[in-house]
Amino acid sequence: MAGVLIVAEAVSGALAPSTLELAGEGRRVAEALGEPLIAAIAGTNVRGNEAALGEAGVEQVYLADHSGPGVPSPEWTAAAVVAAVKQAQPSVVLISHSAAGRMLAPTLAARVQSGVVTDATRLRVEGDRVIVTKPVFGGSVLSEQVVLANPQVVTLRARSFAAAEPQPRNAAQSIALQVPEAAGGLEVLEEIREESTSGPKLKDAKVVVSGGRGLGGAENWHAVEELAAVLGGAVGASRAVTDAGWISPSHQVGLTGATVAPDLYIAIGISGAVQHVAGISGARNVVAINKDAEANIFKYARFGVVGDWKQVVPALTERLKQLRS
Ligand SMILES: Cc1cc2nc3c(=O)[nH]c(=O)nc-3n(C[C@H](O)[C@H](O)[C@H](O)COP(=O)(O)OP(=O)(O)OC[C@H]3O[C@@H](n4cnc5c(N)ncnc54)[C@H](O)[C@@H]3O)c2cc1C
Repeated sequence: MAGVLIVAEAVSGALAPSTLELAGEGRRVAEALGEPLIAAIAGTNVRGNEAALGEAGVEQVYLADHSGPGVPSPEWTAAAVVAAVKQAQPSVVLISHSAAGRMLAPTLAARVQSGVVTDATRLRVEGDRVIVTKPVFGGSVLSEQVVLANPQVVTLRARSFAAAEPQPRNAAQSIALQVPEAAGGLEVLEEIREESTSGPKLKDAKVVVSGGRGLGGAENWHAVEELAAVLGGAVGASRAVTDAGWISPSHQVGLTGATVAPDLYIAIGISGAVQHVAGISGARNVVAINKDAEANIFKYARFGVVGDWKQVVPALTERLKQLRS
């Protein structure tokens, strides 16, 4: 067994940001193990990514182009990655901790009779093992886990690892895989894209502005969106807000929502329940705006403003607009 295999993804003809993070960390692990960095990529029109993968440090890529009609099913994608892993025999497989990755990783581990650790925020190599650090119990404890069998399948949390810096290198050598349509199993009837907003995607955003029940109602939600827009950030929300229907559930941050890791996280009218803060443990700077000085969110905040959002947020947005112009 040799090689660190990353499961790459391309979006609109370019490597996904999460793939560059897999490549950056994958290369570090590969160097520590003294093994090559390889990749598997499966989907529609995935040819043409060899140069970008090469620049990210990948030496070989297993390509499975979906030629059938419609959207590739998760079964087909899993079959393609299993085929790549069986051919390449890597010692480690790194997968993004996205919705698709969370489905793929345990399927792959089961099919190749190995184990999986999900949601890694740090990797360390000891001998031939990768020691995985992952937050557990809603982020209040960090646990170290290791897969004893090979390949060691691990999913990586987005924005927790440095992305590969593209460097002039040879294109990755490509190896084509023929993957027949999976019989039976799942069929994708329709793909519903995440609600498009003008800002960045919540999970990849460097700035996230989130609102909670303290906003008082859907009619006030524009205050959160305006602050996010002026900062070029994504909009997040507590579950109280998404349950109330002020904004779609795809914006929910927390244990049962998205895990975010921005440089700046602004929490407006959010109390800081353990289930909410579980989703922001990777945020580098938390700013809390809350009228209750005892609110739990202040325990996680680098900067706090005790006050009514109605006075603080529009004034902050206005001042930022002035500074930016
Ligand atoms: C199994 C389970 C999973 C869960 N998963 C999640 C999850 O993923 N994400 C999540 O967010 N929650 C989750 N929850 C719910 C969580 O426990 C809390 O109920 C929720 O986070 C509270 O949302 P909130 O902070 O917006 O509301 P509240 O707790 O009601 O807090 C509102 C805050 O606004 C402040 N405020 C009020 N008026 C103003 C004002 N005018 N100006 C400034 N501040 C003001 C108040 O002081 C208060 O601190 C989960 C719960 C369970 C049981």
